[in-house]
Amino acid sequence: MTDNRTAIVTGAGSRRGIGQGIAHALAGQGWNIAVLDLDEASAKDTANAVAEAHGVAAVSAGCDVTDKVAVDAAVSVVESELPEIGALVNNAGITSPVPFLEVSDEEWDHVFEVNVRGSYLMTKRVVGGMAERGFGRVVNLSSVSAERGGGVFGGVAYSAAKAGLLGFSRALARELGPSGVTVNSVAPGLIDTDITAGKLDPERKAAMIADIPTRRAGRVSDVADVVAFLCRPESGYLTGVTYDINGGSHIH
Ligand code: NAD
Repeated sequence: MTDNRTAIVTGAGSRRGIGQGIAHALAGQGWNIAVLDLDEASAKDTANAVAEAHGVAAVSAGCDVTDKVAVDAAVSVVESELPEIGALVNNAGITSPVPFLEVSDEEWDHVFEVNVRGSYLMTKRVVGGMAERGFGRVVNLSSVSAERGGGVFGGVAYSAAKAGLLGFSRALARELGPSGVTVNSVAPGLIDTDITAGKLDPERKAAMIADIPTRRAGRVSDVADVVAFLCRPESGYLTGVTYDINGGSHIH
């Protein structure tokens, strides 16, 4: 049963993004939903759409996940307005295709701040309560770039940050396992969203798709289904795992 619990999905404002797909998939399983995003208006749109489509309770908050004060304030709103937090999906993320020799220190740090520090701050804020209650599901959005060393769209900073998330998930899974809290990662390949902000050359995209065994880019729902599966109460024996969602583009 999940209707007495809340799932927080960060970065779920993006209209065609993976996060809003995850919010819908979780709401379809009965989870109440909290949408946190840098973009407050789009977070609200997702929360409204989820509540209307699935009849669950949903709230939204504008929140920069790299800002500890903002994270604390947003989670406090969720705690006061919705049932207990049972799941956290660290989906907010940014990419950067800049080659290593050209990347600025600021860009390097920013990619780590959003992808790694953001996931750390969110997780730190909510897992204590989950452990006390004896139930929790944390899912981190890594990337195939972490496993194969870039080569999709993200450069070295993105690959390193997403690989950092894999270590984070695995080590935390060991620590929190005894408390009933699972921590897992998903590693999507090329998913059709707006994260590349139109900067992925169409010819390169077509060549990448031609090389994917399933011959298509991934859909948001391909990722959302797996995340929702990992958040089920019945998935409690899966922890520290990484699910590849890449159409067979990286089999290892
Ligand atoms: P997207 O750009 O469509 O959405 C990202 C969302 O994160 C946006 O709504 C944005 O406002 C939000 N965000 C960015 N910085 C934030 C911050 N500091 N605080 C709060 N919210 C912030 O991206 P997407 O394609 O839906 O990607 C979602 C996740 O999946 C990311 O972590 C991404 O790295 C990962 N991923 C995507 C792909 C892909 O091909 N699309 C592949 C592998 C992994």
